[in-house]
Amino acid sequence: MKIFSPLPGEYVASALQRGNEMLGIKTLSPADFRIIPIPRKGYARTGLGQKSEYRKHAVFQFPSLFTERKITEEILQNHTLYPLTAALGRSTTNTIVTPTTWKKICPDCAYEDFENLGTAYVHRSHVQASVQVCSIHGSNLITTCPACSTPIQNHDITSLGVCSQKYKNSIRQLNSPNHSYSIFIAELLNYKGAPVKRDDAQWIVGKSLYIKYFNEMCSDENYSSKIITREFGAKSINSNYRTASDQSFTIQAFLGCGTAERYLDLLTNKAATAQLQKEVNALDHARRRRKTLTA
Ligand SMILES: [Zn+2]
Ligand SMILES: [Zn+2]
Repeated sequence: MKIFSPLPGEYVASALQRGNEMLGIKTLSPADFRIIPIPRKGYARTGLGQKSEYRKHAVFQFPSLFTERKITEEILQNHTLYPLTAALGRSTTNTIVTPTTWKKICPDCAYEDFENLGTAYVHRSHVQASVQVCSIHGSNLITTCPACSTPIQNHDITSLGVCSQKYKNSIRQLNSPNHSYSIFIAELLNYKGAPVKRDDAQWIVGKSLYIKYFNEMCSDENYSSKIITREFGAKSINSNYRTASDQSFTIQAFLGCGTAERYLDLLTNKAATAQLQKEVNALDHARRRRKTLTA
């Protein structure tokens, strides 16, 4: 019998791994926690008469533990990256809601969680590879335990709390772009609305980037990946919205909109969208003028 009792904001794999450790099992198989989108029927087939199925929402396949206990929705909403991908209108067939690389912690969260809840654990808001800082504390996330020098990858989660009592002086970068980015992610993880249409999300992000980086865009075709590298230190970014990975698109959404509040406002508030369109039109006009003047 598996033990599974997730804590607030705990990543699904962390809760399962803690359960295993209590039973004396050291490892966790990805098959126990991976929640995978089911491909659409007929998709990518060339045979005649094969109509591809249309779906508004991603449909997921869950490990049997969750289906048996009828907790699939609760897990998806509260213990995976699903709300972030739904808010950003990501693909319904390729999206990753349960990354298999997930072990990093905020030293301050570990300390406080042990004090308040009796155990440290891995927060889902820290799981995405591009998140480097804790949204709550602004502390750099760590991948090696400062107390016993064990990589978090190999560390028992149930003993992180005890180690955390010896942690001191975490490195903080409050109000840095990395901190703002982790707040952007943490807030979108609380998104509870219907999955956003991909075209809507792409429109908002594309136009917001255009307004913000207009001048650079005019002088450089490949502006997007350059800006991301400069402002964010991220390496290679796919700037095609449709094929961009969930992570590249999340970074672009952050650079364009700045905050989750702004992004969600553009999503729901018609006046804000109209204003954005107006600004885009004005810039288009200016660009055309510039072209005629230089011609
Ligand atoms: Zn923290
Ligand atoms: Zn340790």
